[in-house]
Amino acid sequence: MKRDDQLKRTADCLIIAIDGPVGAGKSTAARLLAKRLGYRYIDSGAMYRALSWKALRAGLDLDDEPRLRQLADETSIVLEPAGDRELIFVDGQDVGRQIREREVEQATSRISTHPSVRAVMVAHQRQIAAQGGVVMDGRDIGTVVFPDADVKFYVTARLEIRAQRRYLEAQAAGATRKIDELAEEIQLRDTRDMSRRASPLRKADGAVTIDTSDLPVSQVVDAMEAEIRRKIAAPEGDT
Ligand code: C5P
Repeated sequence: MKRDDQLKRTADCLIIAIDGPVGAGKSTAARLLAKRLGYRYIDSGAMYRALSWKALRAGLDLDDEPRLRQLADETSIVLEPAGDRELIFVDGQDVGRQIREREVEQATSRISTHPSVRAVMVAHQRQIAAQGGVVMDGRDIGTVVFPDADVKFYVTARLEIRAQRRYLEAQAAGATRKIDELAEEIQLRDTRDMSRRASPLRKADGAVTIDTSDLPVSQVVDAMEAEIRRKIAAPEGDT
């Protein structure tokens, strides 16, 4: 089906893809955008984190792709909207807090390098979003998961701003972290995500870049909404 037809057919249930590096503000903007549109927000990173959490708990070798692929096949990962948040369950257990831990975060960018693990995740993501009406964020949403997404964004920000955001998040959670250390961790994850062979993070064809460094989140969401309205109004002018 051509994208024009798709846009006309699904004005109320579009697929909005958002990709970008660590700490660029994707999830905050995606969540708010979904709320405005009455859509569902899907945090694909949480799914990779959930699998990593289980792999770490099972003491698996993070380089053992066949075993990790098997784990992905056997694991139930369920995302459930809950007011302004999303709950995430692994085999029925709520792991929302655990998947944000530092160790899980670093492991995630390692297990997500494996193509066969990604294939399981991508199939799951496509299935969750099959009906449309979703805003999904991640690293490969506009490039691999939904290359025909109706609207795509590449959200980014300067490294020092991203490190500062992570610093404030850590502080709010009661942890003391050094900004330099956070910047290093961000760079390490970005480098892994951008240089891996399978589905590296890059700007998707047709994606609109939004640099959030100097923008409040409300303006980021305004810009996204304006772009979506523009595409709905004039899909043929889509470039
Ligand atoms: O978005 P978040 O920081 O939660 O993602 C955690 C990690 O999961 C990323 O650093 C990346 O390695 C992986 N990921 C991915 N593809 C996605 C979403 C996340 O490889 N679509």
